[in-house]
Amino acid sequence: MGPRHAPDLAAAGRRLLARLRDVMAGSGTAQDRLDKIVKTIAHEMGADVCSCYVMRAGEVLELFATIGLNPSAVHRTRLRVGEGLVGDVAAHARPIALGNAPTHPNFAYRPETGEDPFNSFMAVPILRGGRVRGVLAIQHTDRRDYDEQEVETLQTVAMVVAELVAAGELVDGRELSVADDLILLPSRLDGTSLNRGVGMGLAVLHRPQLTIRQMVADDPEHELRRLQEAVDGMHLAIDQILIALGERDGEHAEIMQTYRMFANDRGWLSRIREAIRSGLTAEAAVQRVQNDNRARMSQAADPYIRDRLLDLDDVTNRLLQHLAGRGDDVQGGTLPDEFVLVARNLGPAELLDYDRRRLKGLVLEEGSSNSHVSIVARAMDIPVVGQCHEVLGRVEPLDYLIVDGDNGQVFVRPAEDIQDAFSKSLLAREQRQREFAALRDLPAVTRDGVAVQLMLNCGLHIDLPHLHATGADGIGLYRTEIPFMVRASYPEVAAQQESYAKVLDAAGDRPVVFRTLDVGGDKTLPYFPDLSEENPALGWRAIRIGLDRPAMLRKQLRAMLRAAAGRELRLMFPMVAEVAELDRARRVLDLELARLRADGGTPPARLLVGVMVEVPSLLFQLPALLPRVDFLSVGSNDLLQYLFACDRGNPILNNRYDVLSPPMLRLLRDLVRACDAAGVPLSLCGEMASRPLDAMALVGLGFRTLSLAPPAFGEVKGMLRSLELRRVAAYLDRLLDGSDHSLRPKLRAYARDHGVKV
Ligand code: PEP
Ligand code: MG
Repeated sequence: MGPRHAPDLAAAGRRLLARLRDVMAGSGTAQDRLDKIVKTIAHEMGADVCSCYVMRAGEVLELFATIGLNPSAVHRTRLRVGEGLVGDVAAHARPIALGNAPTHPNFAYRPETGEDPFNSFMAVPILRGGRVRGVLAIQHTDRRDYDEQEVETLQTVAMVVAELVAAGELVDGRELSVADDLILLPSRLDGTSLNRGVGMGLAVLHRPQLTIRQMVADDPEHELRRLQEAVDGMHLAIDQILIALGERDGEHAEIMQTYRMFANDRGWLSRIREAIRSGLTAEAAVQRVQNDNRARMSQAADPYIRDRLLDLDDVTNRLLQHLAGRGDDVQGGTLPDEFVLVARNLGPAELLDYDRRRLKGLVLEEGSSNSHVSIVARAMDIPVVGQCHEVLGRVEPLDYLIVDGDNGQVFVRPAEDIQDAFSKSLLAREQRQREFAALRDLPAVTRDGVAVQLMLNCGLHIDLPHLHATGADGIGLYRTEIPFMVRASYPEVAAQQESYAKVLDAAGDRPVVFRTLDVGGDKTLPYFPDLSEENPALGWRAIRIGLDRPAMLRKQLRAMLRAAAGRELRLMFPMVAEVAELDRARRVLDLELARLRADGGTPPARLLVGVMVEVPSLLFQLPALLPRVDFLSVGSNDLLQYLFACDRGNPILNNRYDVLSPPMLRLLRDLVRACDAAGVPLSLCGEMASRPLDAMALVGLGFRTLSLAPPAFGEVKGMLRSLELRRVAAYLDRLLDGSDHSLRPKLRAYARDHGVKV
């Protein structure tokens, strides 16, 4: 359609849409209209068959209307999603066009349909709100190759049918979402914790699908003008958000910059314009392009691509709002005082649109811990449950919800006793937070007088206020990759320098440990090749990339050196597996130092170089390693996965091995001893340091520096101040030779018996 195609075909598409509009506006039941629709499509597209399958409960596609197949098959022929060609279209939400369908391996022959004479087959998904609601198919007797134009026409037509299906007369919408009459019963949904904490409030569904009243337009020029006005309005609104964000937080501004880039994307806008020229209204055209995008999103295995498509979906939603004359105002005056946001997925900028004070929790059908929205939600300290697959089907607007981010669960319309239990636990939590806040200015010292340094883990500028709020002794791990992940291109040295300088400024006299880029594995960069490695955790990542692409590492080191001019710089290399890698990384650093001096720049007043202990091979090179480093920091998250050969991101293996197991703890004890003997400062910055019981074990083993996530400070400090260190050290020593799977139960009992607050 549009300028790419012959004008007569575009005109034919428009005529078909106009006919369908008449049918939709006509009288009769939904079934009558669907019957007329398939007839009209077959006639206008010159097909021998046109059939419409509608999704029913249990992921079954039922033949609802046909012209050309046996009428008695209607409401009898049913295919599971994934079964046959129709099921395949639904399973993958993408069209299929075949010249010789019966020979295709997925062809499922259904004798009752009488489809023997038909050879060619083309089908498209009926999509609405990113979900497959059915399949629309045409067939021809002769063997013919369908062209792109025909596929596009059928996809456009499928949008019209989607409106009919979504209206709920053919199949009650609730049939698809819930097990029939269970809808109003309380339920508990399981997901994955993407951020800890508990939140309660009334459900707000994020941007419920706008109802598009008019799909077909008579005057494409008018629609094009409306589109342009909406695009202009959206640009203005994005720019206003950017101005409002200003200097306040660089990363959010970067996210919005990415949006502006999408909003200007010629390909995206021209596809919308093409769809308008094919006869759709501006709203329908935007939705038509969004459907394609969402289908691509559900197919994209690469998490980065999914995130980018999600960003585009976000921009598309904004555009629809502008077309509806609603602007970007999602906060409105109508949001409840305390609400939980429910979405299929969400862009980080969309999350920022909501009033933080009223937003108590977030539930996503999708979402992963590395997605930007999770990173931002963590920084905002909002409990998040992701991978909660059924939530949109189970939750009605303003249902009461409890988000239990600690256990990855969501309670929908909870009974009163559950509400009471959570309210009490929330109150207790708030009380504890108040107690912890009172600890902020007290030293982290054990009862027997041993001081422990508590440092902060962070990686976004919006985390920096936590330095003050927690009373941290410094930043023990600054994960530099997060800003790299939210940008559309590699940040240049000046931008990096500015960003690192801001961190150093915020820390003042307190030390900051910058970790060089730890990307690769599941942390992909937009401007980096997608390697699709079979074993990403064991693949090309972190320092391996840095050494193989020294220009990138050099630029980052250059920025850090410049940012630290005249100040102390601590930098740390991730995932080092052998001393030779450290030597090579150091040579790169030396080159940059020499360059800085040659350029007349001011070098850091003091430069400390450390390495993360994450790969077990490093433990067998300590005699060579220790004299070469100024400090070491254990990355227990990765160390555990490499020690036990157990993928840290695989939910099936969740909690299979424990950091509080004898092998892990012995390893840590031996490392402490070796570092103490060599006089090398040692810290631990993995998640275990943020759990009070684990932290108790760590200080028992001799760790004197821990680096924690911001919310953990109070609990860990409270634990330390209630601990008699000598005793626990002696107790632990006795346990390390045992054969326990985990020492957690014994340590918990110890803490209870000795009044240690864990
Ligand atoms: C670790 O592996 O423990 C660590 C702190 O690094 P990351 O979690 O960023 O891989
Ligand atoms: Mg790591």
